[in-house]
Amino acid sequence: MFFIAIAPFFFWLIIRELRSPRPKNNVSLGYMGVCLLIGMFLLWQPFKYWLLEQKMTAAVHELAEFKPTDVQCQTMGESLFDRTRMQWAGYTFIDTGDVVFKAGWCKNFKNYLSDPADANSRERYSLMLLVHEAMHVRGERNERKTECQAIQRYYRTALLLGIPEPLAREHGLKYFIEEFPKHPYYSEECSPGGKFDENISDSIWQFL
Ligand SMILES: [Zn+2]
Repeated sequence: MFFIAIAPFFFWLIIRELRSPRPKNNVSLGYMGVCLLIGMFLLWQPFKYWLLEQKMTAAVHELAEFKPTDVQCQTMGESLFDRTRMQWAGYTFIDTGDVVFKAGWCKNFKNYLSDPADANSRERYSLMLLVHEAMHVRGERNERKTECQAIQRYYRTALLLGIPEPLAREHGLKYFIEEFPKHPYYSEECSPGGKFDENISDSIWQFL
């Protein structure tokens, strides 16, 4: 947001130079070129995140059975002043379908998509977070059921977002077997044949 706010200043400097009665020489052309580059640079980062938000929104929309949704990536400043759910990586307003990813988590997600083979556990979990929030958008409020629904859709979502199939399988299984039992939303009912099993044909459990 800060970058977007100060970018117009550099474009204004260019307009001011163009309107100036001074003759345009190499110095003024160079000055305008530098201002243009700075302005474009300042807008590039927010634009990249806007594109990412559109991609995340489209994925959540599909996973949530096409319910209305909007995914927002918070900046560091926004997360610092967001006193609603401080301790969480992300959250959803179930009534409106609005999803919030706290500062850093969209970057984790972006890193995972760009280099899934070398992703660390937080980067891998960012995809689980997206599916988890999509299940809230879909209407689920019980956190244990939500996490279990997300686990069963991890593989599908990873493929949807372009993760290579062997990695989608490996990361989904790794989360379910190694990381989920330590998660606060762990439930014994979340297993093949368990109470939370939705019998989804492309569930990660088909590879157990
Ligand atoms: Zn939740």
